[in-house]
Amino acid sequence: MARETEKQSVAILGGGIAGLSCGYFLKKRNIPFTIYESGGAHGGNCSTFAVGGFRFDSGAHRLHDKDPDATAEIKSLLGERLRKVSAPSHIYHEGRMILFPISAPDSFKKLGAELSMRIAAEALLGRALNRGDAADFESRSLKQYGKTLANLFLLNYSEKLWGIPCSRLSAEASGGRLKGMNLKTVVAATLGLRGAKEHMDGDFYYPDGGISAISEAMADFIGRENIRLNSIVTGVRAEAGAIAEVAVNGQPVETAAGIVTTIPCDEFVRMMTPAPPPGVRDAADSLKFRDMILVALFLDVESVSGSATIYFPDSKYPFTRACEPRNRSEAMSPSEKTSLVFEIPCTEGDAVWKKGDDEIAGIVVESLSATGLARKDDISGCAVRRMKRAYPVMEIGFEKPLRIVMDYLGGFRNLRIAGRNAEFHYSWMHDMIARGKSIAGEFPPGETRRAAKPRQNPDLE
Ligand SMILES: Cc1cc2nc3c(=O)[nH]c(=O)nc-3n(C[C@H](O)[C@H](O)[C@H](O)COP(=O)(O)OP(=O)(O)OC[C@H]3O[C@@H](n4cnc5c(N)ncnc54)[C@H](O)[C@@H]3O)c2cc1C
Repeated sequence: MARETEKQSVAILGGGIAGLSCGYFLKKRNIPFTIYESGGAHGGNCSTFAVGGFRFDSGAHRLHDKDPDATAEIKSLLGERLRKVSAPSHIYHEGRMILFPISAPDSFKKLGAELSMRIAAEALLGRALNRGDAADFESRSLKQYGKTLANLFLLNYSEKLWGIPCSRLSAEASGGRLKGMNLKTVVAATLGLRGAKEHMDGDFYYPDGGISAISEAMADFIGRENIRLNSIVTGVRAEAGAIAEVAVNGQPVETAAGIVTTIPCDEFVRMMTPAPPPGVRDAADSLKFRDMILVALFLDVESVSGSATIYFPDSKYPFTRACEPRNRSEAMSPSEKTSLVFEIPCTEGDAVWKKGDDEIAGIVVESLSATGLARKDDISGCAVRRMKRAYPVMEIGFEKPLRIVMDYLGGFRNLRIAGRNAEFHYSWMHDMIARGKSIAGEFPPGETRRAAKPRQNPDLE
């Protein structure tokens, strides 16, 4: 471990929002560092694509105002470019858009009195009869929301999202998503109870021109000379309880003050020499990730909906949700035009992933026109983007192999771990900012301490 010179640099592996956040706070503390990013751009899975006058994010992003320090940090970076947006979300259900946040009259009208009352009765009965916790997502959904509601909105949706049966999905894993769906509010609203608006209130922060404004502003602050693009971490050599060397594009780089890895933990384990014990490698290999295809359709109409996000729980649609970027920021499309961006969760190499871009876009166009939300004739173009490792999959029992991996990596005294796929937890931009700040605080110039244990699953939306 390095002790003395101010020139000793921290190596940050990965230039997504987690790596940038670490760099941002190290810069504030005047500690030298270099970010090594394999791609040709920074931002990772928190980016904005620009295609012919349209802009769309790598999946529907918004800044959740959950951590006042993180929000304040982004406000200070973006100033007036960070706007407060008020746009509700909806569930598309059999031709109807059920409003989020749900209002009692709206849900009653859209679901019908009989269905609403059945949902409310099942949920209340379920609560009265089932007090214990369930380990899997399916049982918890049935207990908590009742059969009708769970089947209508939760189970199909979650199976599309995660690609495994809900009976194999950890109950805690879907915390964030469930709160996003927030279907408990159906019951609360139907019965006129408190809590109907408690989670997803439709107000959030969003930067003008797309979510990448955050990473761009961070990169400006950091100094682009400290971010090396097209720099693939190819090897990590461990020695005597520390990471002795990191190779980038096959060449060793300076890591004297320590290393922060934000690259997926299984990849990191696989590139280590000497190879970690078989139990650690097997544990890392057992962790699964979910990929995603984005299909953006460009439309010659001013607006399709007022929604921030539209959820499509029905399994007949290949996508889980769509967003209309213009409802987040007008700069996301040319004037008098709009776009819809569909998220199709899949796994690299599966039948969906293997489809060509034209084929997958064609499927989305057909599905969209079947919903009646937009007309085929109004579509003037499209773009398809593929995102790897959009989500860590929290299959039942994932905690054990994860603990094995994290305990092993936590044993290297100059190594810190940050980020959604590095820590394998369902985390958000504000978590990355908090983590970056805390890690930077562990690198006083000329000294490093033992790596803090990574946090696990804060269950946030
Ligand atoms: C569809 C979707 C919607 C989301 N919505 C929201 C939202 O509304 N609000 C919110 O707060 N968060 C949201 N998130 C979460 C947020 O985008 C993620 O938390 C964030 O992108 C994770 O950042 P990261 O830096 O940990 O990982 P990544 O973004 O994956 O960054 C890791 C980086 O490491 C690089 N890398 C990988 N391997 C190597 C290597 N060998 N060498 C060098 N570099 C390497 C990758 O290229 C990548 O740039 C969403 C995420 C998704 C997928």
